[in-house]
Amino acid sequence: PTTLLEVRDLHVEFRTRDGVAKAVNGVDYAVAAGETLAVLGESGSGKSVTAQAVMGILDTPPGRITAGEVLFQGRDLLKLKEDERRKVRGAGMAMIFQDALSSLNPVLSVGDQLAEMYVVHRGMSKKDARAKAVELMDRVRIPAARERVGQYPHQFSGGMRQRIMIAMAMALEPSLIIADEPTTALDVTVQAQVMDLLAELQRELHMGLILITHDLGVVADVADTIAVMYAGRIVERAPVHEIYRAPAHPYTRGLLASIPRLDQKGQDLYAIKGLPPNLTRIPPGCAFHPRCPMAQDVCVTEEPPLARVTYEGLVAERRSACHFWKETLDASR
Ligand code: SF4
Ligand code: MG
Repeated sequence: PTTLLEVRDLHVEFRTRDGVAKAVNGVDYAVAAGETLAVLGESGSGKSVTAQAVMGILDTPPGRITAGEVLFQGRDLLKLKEDERRKVRGAGMAMIFQDALSSLNPVLSVGDQLAEMYVVHRGMSKKDARAKAVELMDRVRIPAARERVGQYPHQFSGGMRQRIMIAMAMALEPSLIIADEPTTALDVTVQAQVMDLLAELQRELHMGLILITHDLGVVADVADTIAVMYAGRIVERAPVHEIYRAPAHPYTRGLLASIPRLDQKGQDLYAIKGLPPNLTRIPPGCAFHPRCPMAQDVCVTEEPPLARVTYEGLVAERRSACHFWKETLDASR
């Protein structure tokens, strides 16, 4: 599969009253056409900031990309001028946010907002663009699209609004979609429907999809690869089924254990104690050591590299940033 996006050694800092917050500290990931990468982590792990840097919508200042490359179809986006960047953002990649109500314009009908994409980017007539808007609403399965195209965002339910956001993101048929907690604000049944829709469209259009979430349960059925972030780094990266079978990082193990699973009844719950670190004062060595039940002396002094994890039967590339990934893997099985 062709690599669509490759993030290399990305670093992002924020100036805060407390000092410099190191939000992203050397992130590497790649997404191919037709692939879904789930980026998982607690709030403050750097997953959204990484995505904003990729999209070119980072708040600057206070944010600053201090190093790295963002290669999209082979071009480093960080070297493009803002107007070239905007073109990539329109047709190459699009983003879906958690809160549709604040991302949509409250005083424009959803049809006008969808149509505007085609008028601005494709030079279509208003009438043709309006017809495309109805088509898009149908495509994201909004019932009675033709009747509802003139309605305003507040007239739709949360789930329907999120479908409209998906329609907006898809309008120009981008090759990559980044969805930042797209279903977090919705209730559980609606969450599943929206996630299914997203996965279905992604398959049909053979797009790359980056799914940012704090909820491992949401991505199980749709992701191909999972990258787990902690304190601005990727601490584990692996095919989703391998991670589910046996995590190779204690942090991932904790995240997995916090999802209730029927087949694990009676087993000890392995919950993560404590809180993520203040990013102006990331602990030395392994940033997770103050919370890690497996920590040893070496964890306090030496930062673990994102090392290759190997075992019999593993064909894909799998990595873990833990000095004791072997022991963790064994303990997880
Ligand atoms: Fe825990 Fe040490 Fe592994 Fe970090 S390197 S996750 S502290 S065992
Ligand atoms: Mg976030």
